[in-house]
Amino acid sequence: MNKTYIDIKNVHKSFQKNEVFGSIQLSLNKGEILSLVGPSGTGKSTFLRCLAGLDQFSSGDVLIEGKTILSKKTKDRPIGMVFQQPLLFPHLTILENVTYGLRLHKKKKEADIVGMKYMKFVGLEGYTQMYPHSLSGGQQQRVALIRALIVKPKLLLLDEPFSSLDPDLRRELRDGVRQLLKKEGMTAIFVTHDREEAMLLGDRVAVLANGSLQQIGNPQDVYEHPYNQTVAHFFSDAL
Ligand code: ADP
Ligand code: MG
Repeated sequence: MNKTYIDIKNVHKSFQKNEVFGSIQLSLNKGEILSLVGPSGTGKSTFLRCLAGLDQFSSGDVLIEGKTILSKKTKDRPIGMVFQQPLLFPHLTILENVTYGLRLHKKKKEADIVGMKYMKFVGLEGYTQMYPHSLSGGQQQRVALIRALIVKPKLLLLDEPFSSLDPDLRRELRDGVRQLLKKEGMTAIFVTHDREEAMLLGDRVAVLANGSLQQIGNPQDVYEHPYNQTVAHFFSDAL
């Protein structure tokens, strides 16, 4: 049995009369990282927001392990999201931030043990009792990432999580994030407008432009054999 883990079927989104994207069809295997790239304004964030339940697709369906999730409320969807800004709770300590989702189901002591483990994974074990404002942007983004991962969502959405960081930090985080997602066996959609980042992080790359998916394939294939001018142009000065 080789059932598709995540099945995004013909989703479409319009704001009033403005169509953002037509029919997007996409499947992900369990543990797969898909990089989603495309020019600014093509609807990448809108696509993720609709998956997460922060907005609604105009039509189409999304199945996780064969069951639709679109009828579920945002909080009941097995989906996590990391945004461009870390959006940590300023009045909670780092450990409280990390364990926030776990605390809904676990006792504090138990949640703290798991939280510490994740903080170690990202090299922040010394920061448990600090508050977000005393951490750097890169450190805060690592906290946002493990806060999302710790509840083990079936799908993790990352919307340009590194774009507010400086280039050195981006490189450092990029490698760490792929390692961490793989270690956790996480299935993820990683949105970026950085082509190099997309190719290094994703098992496959999907290119969204002009309202539809132009191409989806392994990074090297997309780079070496672009289907059309739009994709070729997008990758022409990468790497
Ligand atoms: P990307 O993340 O690829 O840069 P977005 O998803 O942010 O693109 O935006 C895609 C398009 O949808 C843009 O033209 C944007 O103006 C439009 N859009 C996004 N959110 C809304 C909204 N709430 N109402 C109307 N139009 C919107
Ligand atoms: Mg965006």
